[in-house]
Amino acid sequence: MNIHIMTLFPEMVEAVLGESIVGRARKAGKIELHCHQIRDYTQDKHRRVDDTPYGGGMGMVMQCEPIFNCYNAICDQLGTKPHTIYMSPKGRVFNQNRAKELAELENILILCGHYEGVDQRIIDLIVDEEISIGDYVLTGGEIPAMAVADAVARMCPGVLSDQLCFTDESIYSGLLEYPQYTRPEIWQGMEVPSVLLSGHHKNIEAWRHEKSIEITAERRPDLLKLYNQDK
Ligand code: SAM
Repeated sequence: MNIHIMTLFPEMVEAVLGESIVGRARKAGKIELHCHQIRDYTQDKHRRVDDTPYGGGMGMVMQCEPIFNCYNAICDQLGTKPHTIYMSPKGRVFNQNRAKELAELENILILCGHYEGVDQRIIDLIVDEEISIGDYVLTGGEIPAMAVADAVARMCPGVLSDQLCFTDESIYSGLLEYPQYTRPEIWQGMEVPSVLLSGHHKNIEAWRHEKSIEITAERRPDLLKLYNQDK
């Protein structure tokens, strides 16, 4: 899988996605992730990427041309048009299901907006879908792009040590995950539930399922309803 990110702040993305599990997967060649500095594609000697909005109003709007030049360079490099996503609070809200679908594509390209966002014409020309990470507004698309790239990357083969690492987790399984415990057995007077120390795998599985149902019913009755429908 190749993930490309068009951004004005590639260092911000690299600082996060160059570390930990995704960073190691990149080094091991399990996934490719490349950041592209949109500012490198300006023709302007001041490397300007934004201008005031037509019609007036607050803030600045990112211009089409540098983004389009950057996009074309990436397409030339790949020899194809990647599935292109614009991170936007106006997009469809991201979820695990969409992460799974995106992980099956060969190339995805994520455009990060900044300021008041990007000129609508570049969206109309190159963007296949707009994705939001939730009903709140951030200052830029980098954090949303990193959230999407991370969620997609960890579903790619070889990124996590075992597929169970994600199939057994909250949301993917249809339920929220049961509580987890590790050593020591007693901490601050609080004991690990005895069933987890029993070595009895069937009982452990039953306890975990029961806890998953309990916690999902309490926190996300909407998910539990879907889970029961799909059973
Ligand atoms: N003026 C835009 C609006 O009202 O829809 C918001 C622009 S926001 C300040 C700047 C950039 O941050 C957006 O272009 C987008 O790329 C990103 N962004 C902000 N919130 C986001 C969210 N919830 N999901 C995805 N991207 C978001």
